[in-house]
Amino acid sequence: MKVVIVGGSDAGVSAALRIKELEPSFDVLIVTKDHYPNFSVCGLPYLHSGEIKDFTSLFHRTPKDLEALQINLQLDTEVSMIDSAKCLVVTSHGDEIAYDTLILGTGVLPRKLPVLDDLQSPSVFYLHSPCDGERLETYIRKKHPRSALVIGAGYIGVEMAEAFATRGISSYLIERNDQIFPSAEVSHSNRIQEALEAKGVKVYTSCGVKTASKTEDTKVSITLTNQEALEVDIVIVAIGVLPNSTLAQAAGLASDAQGAIVVDHHMRTSDPRILAAGDVVHTFHRILQRFAYLPLGSTAHKQGAIAGEVAAGSVAHEFKGSVGTQVLKVFENVFATTGIKLAQSLHEGYDPVLVEIEADDHKAYYPGAKKIFLSLLGDKITGKLLGVQMYARTTAAVHKRIDVAATALYNDMTVADLLDLDLSYNPPLGSPWDPLQVAAAEWLRKTATFKASSQR
Ligand SMILES: Cc1cc2nc3c(=O)[nH]c(=O)nc-3n(C[C@H](O)[C@H](O)[C@H](O)COP(=O)(O)OP(=O)(O)OC[C@H]3O[C@@H](n4cnc5c(N)ncnc54)[C@H](O)[C@@H]3O)c2cc1C
Repeated sequence: MKVVIVGGSDAGVSAALRIKELEPSFDVLIVTKDHYPNFSVCGLPYLHSGEIKDFTSLFHRTPKDLEALQINLQLDTEVSMIDSAKCLVVTSHGDEIAYDTLILGTGVLPRKLPVLDDLQSPSVFYLHSPCDGERLETYIRKKHPRSALVIGAGYIGVEMAEAFATRGISSYLIERNDQIFPSAEVSHSNRIQEALEAKGVKVYTSCGVKTASKTEDTKVSITLTNQEALEVDIVIVAIGVLPNSTLAQAAGLASDAQGAIVVDHHMRTSDPRILAAGDVVHTFHRILQRFAYLPLGSTAHKQGAIAGEVAAGSVAHEFKGSVGTQVLKVFENVFATTGIKLAQSLHEGYDPVLVEIEADDHKAYYPGAKKIFLSLLGDKITGKLLGVQMYARTTAAVHKRIDVAATALYNDMTVADLLDLDLSYNPPLGSPWDPLQVAAAEWLRKTATFKASSQR
């Protein structure tokens, strides 16, 4: 059996590894346009901050490691066409490669900003692939930039603003929405903004780029929509991504309104011989109970492994879905989120109640206690937990505390159920009632008041 995998990143490599684990005799070939397969692009901001010194240390596995597992690689090769009738792919070098099963893990393409693309400036960067990261890092080391503009304050934008500040490059971060990190509740978004500003990042919301031009010395002159004029050494465009599905669509595979490939819970596409996984597909959202677009590395790894199981012909377990769990480090602080936020819950027709509390991460009498700011969202009618967000110092372990909430959401628990969870306690590490349970109790108090007043 020959399995051809297009894409050598999280989804594609996870699929290959799983096939080899289950069916070592299968012929597995990864064809990827990248020069660096199985590379942690998630680590790039920490290379650019200077905290990680060596680009090559970001490989999850080197090409040699993959080849040692008998996974064949065809690097620097773009697949330009799928001939699904003949079961073959055509590469940009003109080669035809036949397959029994094809797996697509072609990921995303960054959204473009024409006003900056038109400049064709060497100082304008997108940060999406390992080569993008390599190019940016080479540029920083050679040119020693002193100022940067980051456009878009999602997680990549925030991480890059932090990276530049850590490296001593003064940075501006602009966001067209009225808050940065739009998937955060406003209170947490304000905290993220304060943390950035405390380290010197200049943050503008409700702001975009009006005009851009090049100067002779490779700087970029920008006028913002708030009329401010900037001249910076580097511009990073991080305004979101789109599924990279042109190849799949040209082959006639079904895709959704956003262009994400339509798959079932076993990562099967509308063609019985083609599977797809990762950022190029739509993802089942367990809270919304429908498919949505949730491109994340954590999901791509899981979906890739399932595609691999199906390709190996084994009884694959289903992809059970995502609950939208995400974590973001902002200097010495962490923002963590799972589930949906207030605005989305209203849009979905829930009757939501949001509580926001502050609680110590461990008993205050033990040195070093830090506040956790926690918001908890539940549905008043059913008592269902809908979402939790936390913000605290890195030492408060909110990145793991959010995983308790994610597990609760995965299991469709109510807010009241949270009070019954047997969570750990030791004074230097926690409290008899975890902050998540303190928030749950507050939510129940608040909704009891609602019930009482509506009965009157
Ligand atoms: C800076 C940054 C930080 C991130 N941080 C996090 C994080 O902290 N946590 C998290 O969960 N996620 C994070 N992500 C997102 C995460 O990296 C992606 O969700 C994940 O890489 C998706 O994996 P994928 O394999 O589906 O697609 P991609 O990683 O996009 O890979 C697509 C692959 O397909 C190849 N390809 C595309 N088209 C073709 C073609 N026609 N022919 C041949 N090859 C092709 C590409 O070369 C590439 O190898 C981050 C992303 C970036 C850019």
